[in-house]
Amino acid sequence: MNALPATIVAALASVLGDGPVPLHEPRLDGNESRYLSDCLASTYVSSVGAYADRFEADLTALTGAKHAVATVNGTSALHIALLLAGVQPGDEVLIPALSFVATANAVRYCGATPHFLDSQKSTLGLDPAAMRSWLSEISTMKSGECVNQTTGRRITAVVPMHAFGHPCDVVGVMEVAADYGLPVVEDAAESLGSLMNGQHTGTFGLLGTLSFNGNKIVTTGGGGAILTNDAHLAQRAKHLTTTAKVPHKWEYTHDEVGYNYRMPNINAALGCAQLEQLDSFIASKRRLYDIYLEALGQVDGVTLFQEPRGSRGNYWLQTLILDTDQADQRDEVLKTLNDNGFMARPAWTLLPSLKPFLDCPSAPLAEAKLLEQTIINVPSSAGLA
Ligand SMILES: *Cc1c(COP(=O)(O)O)cnc(C)c1O
Repeated sequence: MNALPATIVAALASVLGDGPVPLHEPRLDGNESRYLSDCLASTYVSSVGAYADRFEADLTALTGAKHAVATVNGTSALHIALLLAGVQPGDEVLIPALSFVATANAVRYCGATPHFLDSQKSTLGLDPAAMRSWLSEISTMKSGECVNQTTGRRITAVVPMHAFGHPCDVVGVMEVAADYGLPVVEDAAESLGSLMNGQHTGTFGLLGTLSFNGNKIVTTGGGGAILTNDAHLAQRAKHLTTTAKVPHKWEYTHDEVGYNYRMPNINAALGCAQLEQLDSFIASKRRLYDIYLEALGQVDGVTLFQEPRGSRGNYWLQTLILDTDQADQRDEVLKTLNDNGFMARPAWTLLPSLKPFLDCPSAPLAEAKLLEQTIINVPSSAGLA
């Protein structure tokens, strides 16, 4: 066996003991049972109830966003946020090639086409410099609108994503976006609790979205949320996610085609208990980073990814990056880790390589391709440290 996979397994074993250790599991030992029982006793388990409202209020307090609208999952939050940013059928939306499929799917749900951009090694997120040079090469401004000269389609939004909980250079992306008149929708699905320059991710752009899937740092079973500081957009988000029903005690009137995307109260009850523990989850994950660093810091051929400069990350998933000349070892490292009970996974297959997106436009993706070949996520649950 090659030395690197065995060395990495030994380093992880020194931290984690014997396997099996899952990649990420939720911790549900706070007030979860209490709030769920209370929710059941109330009979308000569905789309109306006090926990859903409280969960939204807790999210605004936590993130500093003026408004939060809770949804059934992070994908639906992205879908609505893109619609509200003005994305229309036939448009193009700039997204990182290195992201979860939901980012691209949400663009498709709007009838638009994802247009893939490269990532930045120091943040794992969208590279503002690459975005600028690509837009200057392929786009033209027509009466205030950014148009892709190659396809003739309007480019109407950009979606930076904070990978594995690490804030991307969202300020840099905002600057480029402003120069091209593009609204920014942040996919902050993985970065609840993560700050850039002291400001919560998901609150920089016109809109931001969160996910509370079972594998995220905080879970509602399934769930998501839309963040915005714009009162009108928040009201529109609430309306669209609640079947566009005109509020009335008994009348069922709907004034446009809406979506049944409201987070059920029973999921929000779970979320309220989870949010109470977010600080301790983050502290535990940050400790785990320190411990992994001690075990792996001296290992040649691999680097433990550290939060980007100016940021304070939630370290949702701990991320190893193999040296470029060790990229051919990735699959063997993954196999050896999993064989030894330490669940590990590679980064996502780049979105433009997925069947539904093969014909979508793309910038050069040198850095994203390298990251795809060298990233390995290792066990990261809160409580491991
Ligand atoms: C989890 C996730 C989402 C949304 O996920 P849901 O499972 O729909 O809640 C979106 N984008 C990224 C990057 C994610 O990791």
